[in-house]
Amino acid sequence: MNIRVGHLYPDYLNIYADRGNIAVFARRAAWRGHELAVEEIGMDSRVEPGAHDLYYVGGGQDREQALVARNMAEKAAGLKEAVAGGAALLAVCGGYQLLGRFYRERSGVELPGVGLLPLHTVAGERRMIGDVLLECELEPGRRRTLAGFENHAGRTILDSGAQPLGRVIAGFGNDGESGLEGCRLERVVGTYLHGPLLPRNPWLADWLLTQALAHRTGGAAEELEPLGDALEAEAHAVSASRARARGGRYS
Ligand code: GLN
Repeated sequence: MNIRVGHLYPDYLNIYADRGNIAVFARRAAWRGHELAVEEIGMDSRVEPGAHDLYYVGGGQDREQALVARNMAEKAAGLKEAVAGGAALLAVCGGYQLLGRFYRERSGVELPGVGLLPLHTVAGERRMIGDVLLECELEPGRRRTLAGFENHAGRTILDSGAQPLGRVIAGFGNDGESGLEGCRLERVVGTYLHGPLLPRNPWLADWLLTQALAHRTGGAAEELEPLGDALEAEAHAVSASRARARGGRYS
C-alpha cells in the first residue's frame, strides 16, 4: 500500500532532528511492505482533504513559527476537513502549539493558530528543558510509555474536557503544573516530545501508520505485525531512565 504523507513546512519547522520521524515512518512502513509517498506542504501549497493519509509537522523557534503561522492558519479549513475525513496527524512542539487557537510569544505578540486542537499556548519566562517520560492510553486499557526530550517556553493550556496525550511521569509536559502532556483528538496527536520522538517510541509510529492505512483503505484500523524492536526498546529505556533521573528542570 502507498501511504501518502503531507509534511507541513519542513524548511521552517524542523528542530532537534524532528525530520527523523519521517524516516521512521518510512522504514517501519517498508518493513511491512508498504511505501511512504511524502509530499512537502509549504507556503504556496494547499491542503487537499483526502489527498493525504498522514500529516506531519515538526517544531520550531518562535522566529520560524512567526514566519509560518499566518500561512498555516489559512490552511485551517483544509486541515480540519482532512482530519474529519479520518486522516492521521502528528505534530511536535512548535507545530503542536500552532494547531491550537494561538501561541502568545513572550513579547505578547499573538501568533494565530489553526484551531484544530482545543488548546492555546502562552510563552513563559523560563524554558522547560529536559528528558520527559509519559504514560499514555491511546487504546482503552492499553497503557504504554513515551520517552523523549522537551525544550519550550510555551505553556499549553488544554480546554476543559480536552484529551491529553498522556500523564507526565517525569518532566514538565504541557505547562509544568497540570501533570498532562500533549493533546489527542481522534487520529491527531500533538506533543512537546522531540528527540526525534519515534525512534525510541516505535509503538506510536505504528499506531499512526495503522490509522493512516485505515484512512487509505477506508477500512478499520488493523494492527501492524509486530517487529523485533530490540534497539528501539533499549533507546526507550535509556531515555526513560534519564527522564526519571533528571526530568523537569527549568533552564
Ligand atoms: N518556540 C516554541 C517554544 O519555545 C516551540 C519550541 C520548539 O518547537 N521546541 O515554546
